[in-house]
Amino acid sequence: MGIKENLMKIQEKITKAAERAGRKPEEITLLAASKTRTPQEIREAFNAGIKVFGENRVQEARDKIPALSDLPIEWHFIGHLQKNKAKYVVKMFELIHSVDSKALVEELQKRADKENKIQKVLIEVKLSPEETKHGCKEGEVPELIDTILSSPNLQLLGFMTIPPYFENAEDVRPYFQRLRNIKEKMEEEFKRNFPHLSMGMSHDFEIAVEEGATIVRIGTALFGPRNY
Ligand SMILES: *Cc1c(COP(=O)(O)O)cnc(C)c1O
Repeated sequence: MGIKENLMKIQEKITKAAERAGRKPEEITLLAASKTRTPQEIREAFNAGIKVFGENRVQEARDKIPALSDLPIEWHFIGHLQKNKAKYVVKMFELIHSVDSKALVEELQKRADKENKIQKVLIEVKLSPEETKHGCKEGEVPELIDTILSSPNLQLLGFMTIPPYFENAEDVRPYFQRLRNIKEKMEEEFKRNFPHLSMGMSHDFEIAVEEGATIVRIGTALFGPRNY
C-alpha cells in the first residue's frame, strides 16, 4: 500500500474520531514521524499532502533536512534532546515537543537568543514510571512552566506524552485523559492558553483524538514498518 492510500485512511479515521468527540477535524494536525525514512519517502508524503514532519535524532535531521530544503516543510523535533545538541535543534525546528528539564530550558533560551528566534516548545510529561522513558514528572510541570514563561525567547504551546505500549489501545485512554487534565489545570493556574496536546501514534491516534489531541505523531501507519 502506498503512502497516499495510507494517508487517506488515517485522515478518515481522524475525521471520524473528531466527530465522535464533537470536535472539528481541522483542529488536528497530522505530523509524520519520519525517523529512518529517506528524503524520497518524505517527498512522497509531502506530495500526498503532509506538511509537518517530526524527527527524533539530531544527526539524522542534519543529514535529511538540507536535502529537502526545496520543500516548505514544517519540521518538529520529537525525540529526546540532549543539552549539547540544543543549538542545532533551535536552528532547524519550528516546534520542539520534548522539553523536560530546567537545564534544557536554560540552554534553549540561550541558543534561541543567539539565533534571534522565538522558539516554540512543548513540555514532555512522563506519565508512567518506566525507567526508559524521557519526560518530566507531573509534579515538576509547574516549575518548568515558570522557567519557560520567564525565558523571553521561548514560547510554550502545550504538552506532549509518550504513554506505555498496550496491546489493547483502549488501555491507553487514561494516559491521554491525564495529559488533558494537566493542560486544563495549568491553563487555570497560569491564566494562559496552552493550545497543543501532542499525543497519539499509529496504533492509538483515534483514542488520542477523542481525548483532545491537537497533534498526532504517525510513523508506521503512514510509511509502513520501519527497517532499522
Ligand atoms: C516514532 C515515533 C512516533 C511514531 O510512531 P509509530 O508507532 O510509528 O506511529 C511518534 N512519536 C515519537 C516521539 C516517535 O519517536
